[in-house]
Amino acid sequence: MAARFDKLESFKGKLGNSAKDLYEAVEYGFGVVKDFYRVATYASRLSDQDTRESGPLAMKQEIGQLGTRLSKLSAYAEPEILKIPKEKLDQFFKEEPRLETYRQYIDDIYRRKEHTLNESEEALLAEASRMVGTAENTYSIFSNADMPRPTIKLSDGREVRLDAAGYTAYRALNVREDRISVFEAFFGGLNDFRRLFGTQLNGEVQKNIFYKNTRKYDSCLQSALDGNNIPTSVYHKLIENTNKNLATLHRYLKLRKRMLGVDELHYYDMYPSLVKEVDLKYTYDEATKIIKEALLVLGQEYVATLDRAFNERWIDVYPNTGKVSGAYSSGSAYDVHPYILMNYNGQYDDMSTLAHELGHTMHSYFSNKNQPFVNANYPIFLAEVASTANEAILIDHVLKGIKEPEKRLSILGNLLESFRTTMFRQTQFAEFELKIHEMAEKGEALTGDKFTEIYLDILKKYYGHNDGVTVIDDLYGIEWAYIPHFYYNFYVYQYSTSFMASQALAEKMLSGDPNMIKKYLNFLSSGGSEYAIPTLKKVGLDMTSDEPFTIATNKMNKIMDDIEKILAEMGK
Ligand SMILES: [Zn+2]
Repeated sequence: MAARFDKLESFKGKLGNSAKDLYEAVEYGFGVVKDFYRVATYASRLSDQDTRESGPLAMKQEIGQLGTRLSKLSAYAEPEILKIPKEKLDQFFKEEPRLETYRQYIDDIYRRKEHTLNESEEALLAEASRMVGTAENTYSIFSNADMPRPTIKLSDGREVRLDAAGYTAYRALNVREDRISVFEAFFGGLNDFRRLFGTQLNGEVQKNIFYKNTRKYDSCLQSALDGNNIPTSVYHKLIENTNKNLATLHRYLKLRKRMLGVDELHYYDMYPSLVKEVDLKYTYDEATKIIKEALLVLGQEYVATLDRAFNERWIDVYPNTGKVSGAYSSGSAYDVHPYILMNYNGQYDDMSTLAHELGHTMHSYFSNKNQPFVNANYPIFLAEVASTANEAILIDHVLKGIKEPEKRLSILGNLLESFRTTMFRQTQFAEFELKIHEMAEKGEALTGDKFTEIYLDILKKYYGHNDGVTVIDDLYGIEWAYIPHFYYNFYVYQYSTSFMASQALAEKMLSGDPNMIKKYLNFLSSGGSEYAIPTLKKVGLDMTSDEPFTIATNKMNKIMDDIEKILAEMGK
């Protein structure tokens, strides 16, 4: 592998010479990258299987070094391609038809031309990148390690420490007094450091302003979204639509209040589950069978490929000593097949996670099969669409087979909560992120207190504080300090958009339109051959329109209709 790197240098300075030179250079370069990913996948999968093994770990480190060398050796390519005049490049495409494979790659380099600086300026920006992680790194070290965390005594006598993990675990307790103590201690602890957190977040915002200015963008939002060529209108539309439909969230909050049986709903009442958790257990064999039945709507080829994943050992199923936790799908071994890592534990969530990861795997499988390597990788904006669509199809199928009202309520309740935490909460974050950047762009000062003021306003609006839906205590305005995603540069909105897109696609597919299934399989096969927004348009979803939002909100209302019906039948 390493020996093949050396030849990369031989193309340097020649890309603009002729169509043949350009073609041979990109063909060779992407061939090397493709095989490098395969080797890297081997090392990573092997290491994740047992992290205690030093052999695979050493392989991974070696791969890391090779990767750095590979990007250094090929760094000349993009600037050189940019130097080829447009007319000459058009001529190249006519002379060498095989270049067509690389058109999207080359067009994308050209698309960013006006935001690419000259060589010495780019070198300066590359040097500045040494400092850009400081705000995020200090935030991360402080909030994960150094920050003193409060300890409280719960009503059952237990003493618990409220770090981020403790907060996540204890905010869902059933005893309300405990939740109140958890919220007061946790947010109070954050509030003590609001000046420090504010300085850190302001540092992050100023970093984004630095890149907006140096790369000549109109706004930080435009600068962040341009990498994946997402129009800012998609972002604005999301916030606009969410604000127009807060009544749907408020309906859920009122239902939550009713099911919890409280006089007044408070922010600390958000996390306990709506009904007593019920036992829904599935063995792995049962799960694969149910998933196949559910996904049969996607056609025979899809299910036949699922069978290959199950039968040809694409999936590392059970937890094991030394194995990494969590779950993922990796589609980087282009010439082989995708791999899934699971820690299957027999709960409904595990079955749902398996369906989710299989969504990623099928997306990778079909894209790898139908696209040349250079276009196989799908854009981030689309990454969670196929996975969450599978979850939605699975839940629809499972509910058809469950009659017990408690079990139905439990599944529907969890589903409803995912609408709140994904569609609404992530948009609420996106709105805050946009607002603070717009203020900084106008030259307004951002301090901890200012962040709290802005966050609290948005939080109160979403939760209907002024309409008597939820009581939001002023202390919770500090919640921004708890969210690491504000250091991801306009990333969170994609959780909402892909959730909505997947809900909308699942609804359309479940309606049984055969044309829709065909379009969806084309979507899975399209990888990164086009940008995300036109790709979704082809499958019938216009992310710049209201439709995905309307379908998702209708679905949320439908879930609430179902819950209310079950409650009525139960006499509650
Ligand atoms: Zn995923």
